Amino acid sequence: MKPDLFEAPDYYNLDELLTEEHKLVRDAAREWVKRDVSPIIEDYAQKAEFPKQIIEGLANIGAFGPYIPMEYGGAGLDQISYGLIMQEIERGDSGVRSTASVQSSLAMYPIWKYGNEAQRSKYLPKLASGEWMGCFGLTEPDHGSNPGGMVTNFKDKGDHYLLNGAKMWISNAPFAQVAVVWAKDESGRIHGLIVERGMEGFTTPETHNKWSLRASSTGELIFDNVKVPKANVLPNKSGLGAPLGCLDSARFGIAWGAIGAAMDCYDTALRYSKERMQFGKPIGQFQLQQKKLAEMITEITKAQLLAWRLGVMRENGTATSAQISMAKRNNVDMALKIARDARQMLGGMGISGEYSIMRHMMNLESVVTYEGTHDIHLLITGLDVTGLNAFK
Ligand SMILES: Cc1cc2nc3c(=O)[nH]c(=O)nc-3n(C[C@H](O)[C@H](O)[C@H](O)COP(=O)(O)OP(=O)(O)OC[C@H]3O[C@@H](n4cnc5c(N)ncnc54)[C@H](O)[C@@H]3O)c2cc1C
Repeated sequence: MKPDLFEAPDYYNLDELLTEEHKLVRDAAREWVKRDVSPIIEDYAQKAEFPKQIIEGLANIGAFGPYIPMEYGGAGLDQISYGLIMQEIERGDSGVRSTASVQSSLAMYPIWKYGNEAQRSKYLPKLASGEWMGCFGLTEPDHGSNPGGMVTNFKDKGDHYLLNGAKMWISNAPFAQVAVVWAKDESGRIHGLIVERGMEGFTTPETHNKWSLRASSTGELIFDNVKVPKANVLPNKSGLGAPLGCLDSARFGIAWGAIGAAMDCYDTALRYSKERMQFGKPIGQFQLQQKKLAEMITEITKAQLLAWRLGVMRENGTATSAQISMAKRNNVDMALKIARDARQMLGGMGISGEYSIMRHMMNLESVVTYEGTHDIHLLITGLDVTGLNAFK
């Protein structure tokens, strides 16, 4: 793979909206990605393997629980810092960002928000340091966009619960020590359970043959009469709103992360357009190529503003789920379109692993699908503005 020459576009001087701390956090993540992710990531994506050696680095840049209080091992940062870290990691690779998002927003967040003190102090410090990795089991073979229909369930057996069912498409599943699993009790209400690797009847087979997020590990969670201690149920929130609250936090991170992937594609295409000569000119001198670049930087700038404003609202506690949906949908779609255009701008080289663009493009096909598909987020906005439910 080519050396990482990335220079971040900031067309509207958005750095002026950031605090010194934001810039420090972002720059540390940017440096780390250049040093420890870019040189190896193409190789791992080609091998379809998660590079476990970067776990410590992810922890060091605060990517595991950026906004979790320091008393639990988190970085104690604000929401914009969280967004900036996700942006920088996804600039390197969406799969690596997925690993960090799942750890922070889908494993640590529910334990922090819905767990009790004993659960927080047992799990959060180990997850923050990367000593343990976590995953989040919501999606099932027959229930993706409609998680409320889940069939995974647990029964009260006196001194423990008995968990049965299966989850699929679970990021980090093959190596996670801890799974936050959503399952129905005997009355049909959804609860979060902390399931640990090693519990009898719990297996996590890896999902192979992915053309997307190849450097992220994905698998199933299978529960065959798993005895879960009663102390492992998250006590402070139940119902579908509990997993959806985690998804709000993760989708917020994705809205920022996708900007990173788009920036990398734009920056690569811009540099290539000035170097690649055809018909005696750099291809960047042709109007058709300039149209692509001009539209890319316009869309990136709009997405940056959307993410920044959402970060302010999320920090002061006013961001709604529908507002988060809009940003996730817009920014991922924007990044996917930029990746496709940037890939064309590189001609044949666009399909080569020498450059990051094709990898970003394939990764973004998962990002546009997981954590609510592109169409589902449109329906959420539609419901929000009309008050009319098109889901059912
Ligand atoms: C790489 C990867 C990693 C993932 N990681 C995780 C994870 O860590 N944890 C987890 O729980 N899940 C995870 N997922 C699952 C992901 O969230 C689901 O794939 C996603 O929610 C869509 O569900 P589905 O695949 O079952 O598609 P379906 O729900 O079957 O949807 C198929 C199509 O139908 C459309 N559709 C569905 N309902 C409607 C409707 N009412 N109106 C209009 N159109 C509709 C959808 O938009 C989509 O286009 C991951 C997925 C991938 C690909």
